[in-house]
Amino acid sequence: MQLEINNLSKTYPNGVHALKNISLTINNGLFGLLGPNGAGKSSLMRTVATLQDADSGSIFLDDLNVLENKDAVRKTLGYLPQEFGVYPNVSALELLHHVALLKGVTNSRQRNELVNALLVQTNLFDVRKKKLGGFSGGMKQRFGIAQALIGSPQIIIVDEPTAGLDPTERNRFLNLLSEISEQVIVILSTHIVDDVRELCSQMAIINKGEVMFAGHPEVAIAGLRGKVHTMFTDKETARQIAKEHQIISTKFNTGKIEVHIYSTQPVPGFSPINAGLEDVYFTVINKLSA
Ligand code: ADP
Repeated sequence: MQLEINNLSKTYPNGVHALKNISLTINNGLFGLLGPNGAGKSSLMRTVATLQDADSGSIFLDDLNVLENKDAVRKTLGYLPQEFGVYPNVSALELLHHVALLKGVTNSRQRNELVNALLVQTNLFDVRKKKLGGFSGGMKQRFGIAQALIGSPQIIIVDEPTAGLDPTERNRFLNLLSEISEQVIVILSTHIVDDVRELCSQMAIINKGEVMFAGHPEVAIAGLRGKVHTMFTDKETARQIAKEHQIISTKFNTGKIEVHIYSTQPVPGFSPINAGLEDVYFTVINKLSA
């Protein structure tokens, strides 16, 4: 499977130019769509999920024209929106059966097998009879994935799924996505760099509606080799450094300020360090290497 997005643009009626000529190629595996709030991630995800139209451009899922064959696309797509509401008074088991019925799994034996397999896969089997209203954030998100998987979608889109999850739940959720993505395209939209760091084999960084980088995270990191330098300092010196250098990030670290700067040359007083994905993110967003 391949998702090919070409020159996609969208301006909302209020004049916000949310997508500017977005072009991306996405293959099977976990794809991280990274960008700050307001970058256009949800606009792009909703367009791919056939929930809103673009002004121009095209999206193809292999040979299928996504924007012109919405019904066909919906049959092969699982979507977990940012705000995923559940019916609080029904159990995971009941709601999964209900969704499976709606999606046409009418044979009760097949439905039982499918629902049980999904509950096991998403680690919810033990709590299957519990009411969804009592689920934690992570359990709700995993339930969202279970319902999105009904109908064997070829492409799964999850929009900012880890916001508000504790570290254990976040890991469990990301591992689940990674596992699923062995066979299908999974697009994970997020503003959290760590979500993308370990598991995504492909990624893009978008900002203000534009693709700033697309490729493999490791390639992006390699591109910064020798160009990130660090110093631990105090507030006043950090302020001074900001006037003289291209700042990637400043962070409080054990009572000091850790400054990362971008430079192609060695910088007196700074030590070169191995770049991380966060350095890539800030360098790209702030166009430091331009
Ligand atoms: P992200 O998901 O990266 O936070 P969004 O796609 O939600 O970004 O938003 C991109 C820009 O488009 C923002 O400036 C946002 O305010 C604007 N926007 C999003 N949805 C709408 C809408 N339905 N009508 C008008 N403006 C919108």
